[in-house]
Amino acid sequence: MTLSDPKLLANIRIVLTRTSHPGNIGAAARAMKTMGLSRLVLVDPAVFPNSQADAMASGAADVLAQARVCATLTEALADVTLALGVSARRRDIVAEVLTPAGASARLLTEAQAAPVALVFGNETSGLSNEELSLCQGLVTIAANPNYSSLNLAAAVQVLCYEIRQAWLGHAGWPQPEMDAATGAEVERFYGHLETTLAELEFLNPGSPGKLMLKLRRLFARTRLAREEVNILRGILTAAQEARRGARQARNPGMQ
Ligand code: SAH
Repeated sequence: MTLSDPKLLANIRIVLTRTSHPGNIGAAARAMKTMGLSRLVLVDPAVFPNSQADAMASGAADVLAQARVCATLTEALADVTLALGVSARRRDIVAEVLTPAGASARLLTEAQAAPVALVFGNETSGLSNEELSLCQGLVTIAANPNYSSLNLAAAVQVLCYEIRQAWLGHAGWPQPEMDAATGAEVERFYGHLETTLAELEFLNPGSPGKLMLKLRRLFARTRLAREEVNILRGILTAAQEARRGARQARNPGMQ
């Protein structure tokens, strides 16, 4: 029998965004280590490092010591090819909602090829729309509908437990379906899209409104392959060139 590969767990990142209570960071580190996960990323934590975090981490001090602190979620997901937001069901978001077990299978499959992430929200406000727009799917822990909000570290424990059970249950995962684009590649595409839409005067840079957020959400509902990002950017470049050509034809003196 082939053993489950520890590299898969090392490629799964637990990302905590804007955590208010340092004790939760420590408890999350402990929850991770009990299940064999070690990559903790903190996005703009209110207080870190901190003695309460150390106390709650107990024997998982190494996970805290290795935790990476990032200023933004975009930075935390730059090299990630699959990011799943963990959130109590949000009726306003029309996205595929995964169970923790379903999410675990997806993450382990993709972790064979690249780093992947589970993104948890702030204790009071949860994940913002902007944060969710950087994720390609939503994971919900089916809980009591009258009281469905788990403590942050408890939610981390549930997900890490499911990942471990899935990991133990399968030695071999199918190969990922595609060569997925990383967060940074997708961000560069959004930047290119925004510039092009401004050049086409479809978007007013002075008041972009919610257009870019809506477009991000549209693309976030699917996972983009690296090749698809290249095709989309090729289309944008062609549109930019056509627009510049048309302008020059109208104003021949213009550079
Ligand atoms: N009032 C917040 C609760 C945040 S709890 C809200 O409505 O979102 C802190 C974090 O724990 C959440 O952002 C989420 O990542 C996770 N969490 C708590 N309960 C959850 C549940 N039932 N399903 C999925 N994630 C949950």
